[in-house]
Amino acid sequence: MATPKSLPGMDDILPGEIEKWQAIEEKAKEVFCLYGYSEIRTPILEEISLFRQSVGDDTDIVQKQMFSLQADSEKEICLRPEQTASIVRAYIEHSIAKKEEMTKYYYSGPMFRRERPQRGRKRQFYQIGAEAIGSNSSYLDAEIIFLISDILKAVKVGNYQIELSSIGCRGCQPKYKAALKQYFQSKIKLLCQDCQRRFKTNILRILDCKKEGCQMVIQKAPSVLDYLCEKCNKHFEGVQDGLNLAGIPCHLSEVSLRTDSSQCVINPRIVRGLDYYTNTVFEFTHPDLGSQNALAAGGRYNNLIGEMGGENQPAIGFSLGIERVSAVSGLVPEEDSPFIFFAPLGQAAYREAYRIMQGLRRKGVASEIDYQDKSLKAQMRAADKLGAKWVAILGEKELKKKVIILRNMETKEQEEINLRDVIQKVTSRQVTSKK
Ligand SMILES: [Zn+2]
Ligand SMILES: [Zn+2]
Repeated sequence: MATPKSLPGMDDILPGEIEKWQAIEEKAKEVFCLYGYSEIRTPILEEISLFRQSVGDDTDIVQKQMFSLQADSEKEICLRPEQTASIVRAYIEHSIAKKEEMTKYYYSGPMFRRERPQRGRKRQFYQIGAEAIGSNSSYLDAEIIFLISDILKAVKVGNYQIELSSIGCRGCQPKYKAALKQYFQSKIKLLCQDCQRRFKTNILRILDCKKEGCQMVIQKAPSVLDYLCEKCNKHFEGVQDGLNLAGIPCHLSEVSLRTDSSQCVINPRIVRGLDYYTNTVFEFTHPDLGSQNALAAGGRYNNLIGEMGGENQPAIGFSLGIERVSAVSGLVPEEDSPFIFFAPLGQAAYREAYRIMQGLRRKGVASEIDYQDKSLKAQMRAADKLGAKWVAILGEKELKKKVIILRNMETKEQEEINLRDVIQKVTSRQVTSKK
């Protein structure tokens, strides 16, 4: 029989790597608290119609990448490919709009897309993100950008680039789409198969195509910023004002030139790949990530809640990929080492050491003991490998004297301690060492 293996694009995250993920989640959580966001957790399985309706029928996600399955009933369900749709569903389902005027949620968890697994792209991938619902203020858009920047700083990611644009509202988008139609009409043969389909179904999405042939054509396409209505233009200026006010200056860039992370590049070529976006869209990219270079991305979705049957509420959100952030993060998480390792010799000493060890654990002292009948020498090596600060040696001789030998693994100094004082003395030493 073949040895079992995990599915392609679905990885095990083992100790050694997971500590960095935990640190990223913890730091992100601290930043979310500072900005007033509360956690929400929604189910991993949802009805497939939820994503058809929100993400959009003509997106790659819905067309090609859904992990769908048939539930017992006639309902078709799927593993969530992203989180915003589920949060909006929950927001409507629990009538949150009636309970609070402004809602700020954050989340962390796995998402699923049936893509060809490659560098930087998994089929089960993890995202941290947030949604702010109930305001169309430009300053809220700026807040989301500050929030992401602060998370990236907290997890020691540098050298990223912030790119910002606006894709307008349902009022100004038709005019821009008409201009695109006119522009791409004569060049349709130069576009890839997908883009030729997009030309008919959702022309904006052509701007999203990464294929080289298409990119050549896209670069000379009309800029969305020339087609924004007055209201959208004012909103977009407001976002830049918010960013400028508190330390992220914005520049317009024709090609997306790299600048340092404390600045924001206005790049009118950003189109997020989902149907629900309106107005502000943004991406945080990192040059070390290769072709899948987005660390975080998001945008405003002012019509989605209304379109999904809720009372219309303006909203904005983002998500950040934990795998990609972890790949470029300079965080070095501390390893979890036992404070004390017990090295007993002989059955009677083992039983005594075992009893004391449990007592110490109950006092909050990380303690470990050998479970493999090792020799004293091998136990000392094990303690060293685990990074224990102290080793407690207990042989027959010590047991008779009712003492234990405490060895400082750093200085190699040893001392005898009365068996009855071990718990109290070791506990107080741990307190001192933590100061
Ligand atoms: Zn508009
Ligand atoms: Zn294309």
